[in-house]
Amino acid sequence: MHNKLIELYEQCINELTSIGLDLSPKNIGEIKIQLSKRNNKRYGCCKQEEPDSKYKITQKIGRRKIVKYERFNKHTIEISKWVMDLNDEIIKNTIMHEIIHCFPFCNNHGKEFKMYAKYINEKLGYDISRLGNKKEDFAKSNIEFEEKQYKYVIKCTNCGKLIYRNRLNRDFFRKYRCKCGGKLLLIETRN
Ligand SMILES: [Zn+2]
Ligand SMILES: [Zn+2]
Repeated sequence: MHNKLIELYEQCINELTSIGLDLSPKNIGEIKIQLSKRNNKRYGCCKQEEPDSKYKITQKIGRRKIVKYERFNKHTIEISKWVMDLNDEIIKNTIMHEIIHCFPFCNNHGKEFKMYAKYINEKLGYDISRLGNKKEDFAKSNIEFEEKQYKYVIKCTNCGKLIYRNRLNRDFFRKYRCKCGGKLLLIETRN
């Protein structure tokens, strides 16, 4: 699973380089990518470290002074485990979204972020947006969608559809079939 993440990440980096974006550490800092250790609702996140003092911005809101940095030297991208069950296309879309957060002035979903997203969408045919649409992404990946995190992963032996359940009673596999009529099989039990 982890190798798959690295492989898709490298594909993203190559594609971004091919459309002229500078991903060298000198420009955007160092990026590390890993699976999220916790079960997150979010697709992914990008943790920023080592703020660049040359990009310090001070804002005054009333009497309060707020210090912000617009460039960081270190980024850790975390992708949620459940995202790895989705189509490669959707996983890469998530990775692309998080890579944009590594660019200067892109630590939020503001103007600069949108500019990169638009450019990448147009040049490479991605669909990067502020937030993913879980319902759509699960449907595209042939996975039955429910909001919660699941303990059991069941697969249809005929059409390959994945079904997630938190409880499984003993006669589940005797009682139920996939909508396509296929036999169901328990393929994973998660903690
Ligand atoms: Zn984001
Ligand atoms: Zn089926």
